Amino acid sequence: MHTITIVGGSVAGVRSAEALRAAGYDGRLVLLGDDAHRPYDRPPLSKAFLDGSADLDAIGLLDDEDEAELDLDLRLGVSAARLDPAGGRVVLADGTDVATDGVVVATGGSARRLPGSAGVEGVHTLRTLDDALALRRALRDGAPRVAIVGGGFIGAEVASTCRAMGLEVTVLDGLPLPLAPVLGPRIARSCVDLHAEHGTDLRPSTAVAGLATVPAGDARRVVGVELGDGTTVKADVVVVGIGITPNTGWLDGSGLRVDNGVCTDAGMVTDLPNVVAVGDVARWGGTGGPGRGHRHEHWTSAGEQAAVAAANLLAGRTGRPGAVFRPSGYVWSEQYGRMLQLAGHPSPDDRVEVVDGEPADGRFVARWVDAEGVTTGVFGMGDPRRFGRVRRTELRRPTAA
Ligand SMILES: Cc1cc2nc3c(=O)[nH]c(=O)nc-3n(C[C@H](O)[C@H](O)[C@H](O)COP(=O)(O)OP(=O)(O)OC[C@H]3O[C@@H](n4cnc5c(N)ncnc54)[C@H](O)[C@@H]3O)c2cc1C
Repeated sequence: MHTITIVGGSVAGVRSAEALRAAGYDGRLVLLGDDAHRPYDRPPLSKAFLDGSADLDAIGLLDDEDEAELDLDLRLGVSAARLDPAGGRVVLADGTDVATDGVVVATGGSARRLPGSAGVEGVHTLRTLDDALALRRALRDGAPRVAIVGGGFIGAEVASTCRAMGLEVTVLDGLPLPLAPVLGPRIARSCVDLHAEHGTDLRPSTAVAGLATVPAGDARRVVGVELGDGTTVKADVVVVGIGITPNTGWLDGSGLRVDNGVCTDAGMVTDLPNVVAVGDVARWGGTGGPGRGHRHEHWTSAGEQAAVAAANLLAGRTGRPGAVFRPSGYVWSEQYGRMLQLAGHPSPDDRVEVVDGEPADGRFVARWVDAEGVTTGVFGMGDPRRFGRVRRTELRRPTAA
């Protein structure tokens, strides 16, 4: 291959560039990103960057030296509008194109919005650096009351950061127990209890009906969130954390299969052997039919997938030993000064055993065990060292994707 074009300039894209060079690719390497900022990491946007304790330098993914070392043709603020596999090119939004032999799709996802929230002042999503800068400004403007729609990881992290800033916070979630679909009821309960312990008003089983707004010049400004029971939670700042939609619109007409993400085989290769997909946008193991496969929205998965995708893109196929994605299932979150960590792939039927510490103390390690007594997952709260030890000693890496 003479030219490989990576579309998407975040962790999956940058790790793909690194993996391609590490695998010996010495041709032209183009990285396109529609964000005008140099590549940065998203996890701090709801944590240390939001509270101001980390600056831009601390969250950078790729500095000038990395760019030179990778011999990268980095194009920022450039949006891919179309993939034309027959013509061997990526067409850009300005009408120009990049002729290319191979493509890495790493376009991630965009934050979902509440219907009717477009253009309403005081309503925020949190996906990009600009989103985080806007939210940071809003949180520092007086002492705003904050309502967070969505009690998943990002909503919980924003709540934690806001409480540490001394702000009044309400979290609204439709589920009876937020995080239970990911962590199961017992572990989710321990996480959710952190909210009450730190003065966050968590309201589970709560339906959001809309936004309460007032006129503000030519626009409207949010003053609260209207609930399904007819009441309103007053708020000056509303943060919407209700998940993402994979960025696949630019692939319309390319012939690639898209079904809640770009469908790939277990080696991150799409239906075209010279196009791979990685990160939040990739639905791997999903070429077998509609609804099949998995899509991860985790930082660690993006890097793990990049190494596999790079090997298979250069080989022109999946199937060499080692070129199948075997996810570690590692995810972390930081809430209320505690590190929460999960590894492995527990199933809802697995038994939970606390192996160290006490959930009531907010510091413990637990494992999931299947019917054969095999450890399928490990969870830690507030104890990264013990979590690491139990993970190393108890958890086997999966043998198939
Ligand atoms: C606030 C926040 C906190 C998080 N915290 C954690 C955490 O604690 N732990 C964890 O495991 N994960 C966390 N995550 C998730 C993690 O950041 C994502 O899994 C990761 O960013 C996915 O990387 P990606 O490169 O696949 O996609 P993205 O990060 O979405 O990047 C995709 C890039 O592609 C660009 N792009 C999109 N379309 C185009 C186009 N047509 N042309 C050119 N460029 C395009 C986008 O601008 C973007 O820069 C967090 C995410 C957020 C938002």
